[in-house]
Amino acid sequence: MPSSLKLFSTRRHFLGGLGLFGLASSLPIGRLFPSFGTPVLAASQTAPEAAPVFRNRAPLAGSAFYFLPLGSIHPGGWLKEQLRTQANGLSGHLDETWADVGPNSGWLGGSGESWERGPYFLDGLVPLAWLLDDARLKAKAQKYIDWTLDHQASNGMIGPSSNDDWWPRIVMLKALTQYQEFTGDSRVLPVMDKYFRYQLGEMATRPLRDWAKFRWQDELLSVIWLYNRTGSSYLLDLARLLNKQGYDWQGQYADFKYTERITAEYIRLEKGEGLKDLALATHGVNNGQAVKTGPVWSLVSGSDADRSAVLRMISELNKYHGLPNGMFSCDEHLAGLDPSQGSELCTVVEYMFSLEHALAILGNPALGDRLEQLAFNALPGTLTDDMWAHQYNQEPNQVECSLHRKPWTTDGPESNLYGLEPNFGCCTANFHQGWPKFAASLFMLSGAQNTTEHDSLHPGAQGSRAGGPGLVAAVYAPCEVRTVLGGTAVHVVEETGYPFRETVRITVNPASPLSFPLQLRIPAWAKGATITVNGQAAPTPEPASFARIERTWKAGDRVEIKFPMAPRISRWFHDSIAVERGPLVFSYGIGESWVKLCDRGMTADWQVFPATAWNYALSVDPASPAKSIAVTETEVGEGPFTSRHAPVRLSVKARKLNEWRAEDGVANPVPQSPVASDQAEETITLIPYAAAKLRITAFPLSKT
Ligand SMILES: [Zn+2]
Repeated sequence: MPSSLKLFSTRRHFLGGLGLFGLASSLPIGRLFPSFGTPVLAASQTAPEAAPVFRNRAPLAGSAFYFLPLGSIHPGGWLKEQLRTQANGLSGHLDETWADVGPNSGWLGGSGESWERGPYFLDGLVPLAWLLDDARLKAKAQKYIDWTLDHQASNGMIGPSSNDDWWPRIVMLKALTQYQEFTGDSRVLPVMDKYFRYQLGEMATRPLRDWAKFRWQDELLSVIWLYNRTGSSYLLDLARLLNKQGYDWQGQYADFKYTERITAEYIRLEKGEGLKDLALATHGVNNGQAVKTGPVWSLVSGSDADRSAVLRMISELNKYHGLPNGMFSCDEHLAGLDPSQGSELCTVVEYMFSLEHALAILGNPALGDRLEQLAFNALPGTLTDDMWAHQYNQEPNQVECSLHRKPWTTDGPESNLYGLEPNFGCCTANFHQGWPKFAASLFMLSGAQNTTEHDSLHPGAQGSRAGGPGLVAAVYAPCEVRTVLGGTAVHVVEETGYPFRETVRITVNPASPLSFPLQLRIPAWAKGATITVNGQAAPTPEPASFARIERTWKAGDRVEIKFPMAPRISRWFHDSIAVERGPLVFSYGIGESWVKLCDRGMTADWQVFPATAWNYALSVDPASPAKSIAVTETEVGEGPFTSRHAPVRLSVKARKLNEWRAEDGVANPVPQSPVASDQAEETITLIPYAAAKLRITAFPLSKT
């Protein structure tokens, strides 16, 4: 064991002995925040030990922000309920009903599935279990973790011995790093260290191939994570080798050639070339994962061009494959701009994960805008309300979920059914990471952090000391944060009905008065946003920025942000329009007739047929849409992403457009706007995208 690892294994014991972190536990939470309801942590509970933040160690470049150590952010309000729904649904029971991650999993030492599905499941189950502090889920996750940590081969290899593919290990490393942050388990770093040393030696003769070649940047995250903790220089050699053997994503987007809908013929799928470079370079999930490549690699390269590559990549994806739910089309390959094309659930959660890291590294607020758009629309929109069933592909204009081969580029006929494993089981195993990782990204850390405690235990620690540590509200949802800034315990409570409401209230509670900057992301759409501190107006913040409030904070200081959410219009395929309000996209919810196709163990596969008309053109004034759209708000309570409990609805004038039809269960391409209709004007109701499981999102614009 390298000496730095020995040092680390004693850290938690040492920090616990300092008694630095019990201060926050004495704060009278219930008295200070009577409107918050039940605090995530009762005042009598001991605050969790504040884990150190490992900033990028030289010679790595610095990040704008750092994730708070896992366990610092505690979801509250509707977000906690959403995680509970997830735990009560497939995520909390998958191993009981799906053999691929069941007792015979290769990742439990069995002879069953031994590739990516066990690690995928863990990558979401671990943060879900520990964020909810759910003993049942922790025990489930622990079995796979223990098997992996306790069965490392003598040469350093981890995982089932039946395959030696680097790719599933890349996923398991992501699960292990999260598990280590939550628990401090001293087995993790030595296992990772031995594995990476082994891999570095092996890659000369067994280079990255197939999925690992196109997803190398996800392993780079874990390599950097370990390097920041141990400082072992061979890890930088491994980082460079991953880059050298990995696919050149930046090259692809510097001269982007895949601007049209990909076909099976184009990638020669029938010729058995589904794993050739052309197929993998145009594969949706690979592109979703690749979004992080430039920023993550820039930590090693130090190159500004690498840092900014993410913006070009998102811009090109949007230009040629962008959809109004924030996604790019990928069903399963890049599929063009038609809103009847689909996006795979794996791509939704991988794109979110990429955005979380890109946002931390770059500190660009636009990345937070898109992350929220995916989290609040595309993610819940492709899962049933109880999270027991999901789609493989979701469509912005989704008029029927039934067995049909159309319109997918390369996917099969089950692809938009809601079920256990429609089309293919990757999403079944992989979707669990979406909500938990979003919850762990709500607040981040800016500037230096915990240098005294950190460095006294870790003399090799390096990093910028410019500016003191501060907190960043990166994306918004109800939560509490417990952390330590410059040696002082800080407790933060965020209360909000966002994204359904305009107001976010943040209460700051340092254990003793403390000066630090609090940065607040102001979305690009939030024109006219206002901030008050203890009722006093702060300077007007600019949209698409981070507003910075630096002051000496005292317990109970309150920051209130108001994001005006006037309805607005965005333009899409054939000049169609989508209606947005805040980070939410709105859809016409088509009447749904759910028909069970078959039982699938503890869950079932469902088709959904339209029970009402859907072919509407909207009558709005694109120059001032708010004038022609009425907003109705109701309580933000249980199931805010469901049609029954949607807390905000929009009323808008519309006319039917008889010539716009469906064929084979798929809406024909939305007619070129503007359109003329001789049908009577009606008032229709739009609901949040996620609440409408059958929906129209990109509408023709009516001339009249
Ligand atoms: Zn998938």
